[in-house]
Amino acid sequence: MKKRLAILGSTGSIGSQTLQIANRIENIEIVAISCGHNLSLFSKQLSEFHPPFAASLKKSDSLTDSFPATLFFHGEEGIERMLEESKPDYVLLAVSGAAGLRFSLKAIEVCHRLCLANKESIVCGGDLLLKECARKGVELIPVDSEHSGLFQLLDGSRRPKRIIITASGGALRDWPLERIQDATIRDVLRHPVWSMGNRITIDSASMVNKGLEVIEAKYLFEFETNEIDTYICRNSFIHAGILYSDGVLKLHTGIPDMRIPIAYSLTYPERIQTIPEQSIVDVPMILEELPKERFPALTLAREICGVVSKQIAYNAADEVAVEAFMNGRMPFGGIYNIIEKTVERTADQNPVDYSQIIETDSVARKLAQEEVDRCY
Ligand code: NDP
Ligand code: MG
Repeated sequence: MKKRLAILGSTGSIGSQTLQIANRIENIEIVAISCGHNLSLFSKQLSEFHPPFAASLKKSDSLTDSFPATLFFHGEEGIERMLEESKPDYVLLAVSGAAGLRFSLKAIEVCHRLCLANKESIVCGGDLLLKECARKGVELIPVDSEHSGLFQLLDGSRRPKRIIITASGGALRDWPLERIQDATIRDVLRHPVWSMGNRITIDSASMVNKGLEVIEAKYLFEFETNEIDTYICRNSFIHAGILYSDGVLKLHTGIPDMRIPIAYSLTYPERIQTIPEQSIVDVPMILEELPKERFPALTLAREICGVVSKQIAYNAADEVAVEAFMNGRMPFGGIYNIIEKTVERTADQNPVDYSQIIETDSVARKLAQEEVDRCY
């Protein structure tokens, strides 16, 4: 029997790669896809993959008319309804931002396996999603490359003393500190290794992405922040590692290509070949110390990790600040200032349900916007 797959965020970087891969996996059938606003790409995907169910944030009569065999839904509620109606076995969640949590929670009501790219679902939800997955018997397979690596390393082994995730260092890793503040959008989007969506590429340069990932790793694998080490690996060939008390270090290494963890989340526990084999001779595998002074956003994430309201504020402020930077309102260096101020103004709380999380998120966004308006 084929597994029915729904892909949320199909027009994004992860979503479009997932479509290509899933289409090549014999026992997977793409039954539903959703997008935000990119209706021209969505239309191309609908013509290529013919899913019986589809949803977009905005209603489009021309899409509905062009694909009479597809049942369309609209708006965030529409994406949820699409999940209910299409009855997927697997959901790959590639929506960006805190908006993803709502869909993750809905997905686990209807599917058996959640392939989770949306790290914000964990950062903003704390252990809510994990608890719900455990309660409902839903498998949660991380797609984020470092967490996919840890998932594979920790699968069945004894608990190590420490875990490791790596960062490429982002586009500005070799820039003199004093120039970083004023890096342009073009500078920041020139990622040395990965080709990804705009926000995560900017978050790689500010190291906010690694901050979110330390938090993601804490909840996914139940390690304390001081047991999670972060290093630079310039070519991203080392994704993750686990260190045992006897000094043995197991590393998860491989070609930095998101198609590999995407495919693994879909075929687990099996593996398939997604990209041509490449020589591993002379590939440098080097872990470098991550210079803390260059990346205050990672230090801040470590400090607030475990306090869910601050995690939500950290993410929300970053979403607001990255948008302001992308719109040319603010220098790159402003992103960290906005996050720091918003986190500082957010009280320590541990919201327990979705409505409290959304309330905290919306207050934090307002605070972050106030800081942007006041400072820039
Ligand atoms: P993109 O910005 O490329 O894509 C985001 C997708 O989500 C698009 O399809 C977009 O629709 C859709 N979307 C955005 N907001 C909403 C919303 N409110 N409701 C419904 N759909 C929405 O992001 P990425 O693919 O880069 O990243 C997706 C997630 O995966 C993020 O959480 C990121 O951190 C994570 N991730 C990404 C990696 C990468 O290599 N890109 C690596 C590891 C993790 P549209 O474009 O049509 O508006
Ligand atoms: Mg990652």
